[in-house]
Amino acid sequence: MQDIDSSNEYHQRPTWDEYFLMLAKLAATRSTCIAFPVGAVIVKNKQVVATGYNGSPSGSAHCTSQGYCYPGLTSCDASKTLPSRAVHAEANAIAQAANYGISTYGASIYVTLEPCLSCLKLVISAGIKEVFYETSFNSGEKALVRDSFVNEGLVTINQVKLSEVIAQKAASFLLTSTSISNIGILQSSQEKLL
Ligand SMILES: [Zn+2]
Ligand SMILES: [Zn+2]
Repeated sequence: MQDIDSSNEYHQRPTWDEYFLMLAKLAATRSTCIAFPVGAVIVKNKQVVATGYNGSPSGSAHCTSQGYCYPGLTSCDASKTLPSRAVHAEANAIAQAANYGISTYGASIYVTLEPCLSCLKLVISAGIKEVFYETSFNSGEKALVRDSFVNEGLVTINQVKLSEVIAQKAASFLLTSTSISNIGILQSSQEKLL
């Protein structure tokens, strides 16, 4: 057997934050509202208990099928007044937990986009104590409301990012057969990405 070089970046494992953020990013690929893809993963004791993505309510037409949120619009964000039809990723993940009788109390949630205030309130009321997000969303007065919840000690909110090495490794795993013994194949697919 060959020795494995532990300094080789292809052997680096994602941190837990990177792992769950990557799962949230994968969930976002299932988003059905064209406005923007968002994915969420609810985690308890380092286990995924529910996932969600931005999309129309269960059973309703997908924006990706019809091309818009509402008839008469040319896209999901063509109207400044009509709200999106999408159930946000966080809300869908909490609803999924509710559908299957899974407690979210004391859980954490990983989201590709910082929760809007409606979702943040829902997250807090669902007993979720920690929010980890990739991209910022709230500013101005919304950020003040968000910060008031944090200052009350209801929830913690932290931005997390994928390291370049782990993002490249994940891309390689997605682009080639993952469970192969020849690390050289992984490295050559990595080189193609550069
Ligand atoms: Zn839509
Ligand atoms: Zn939201």
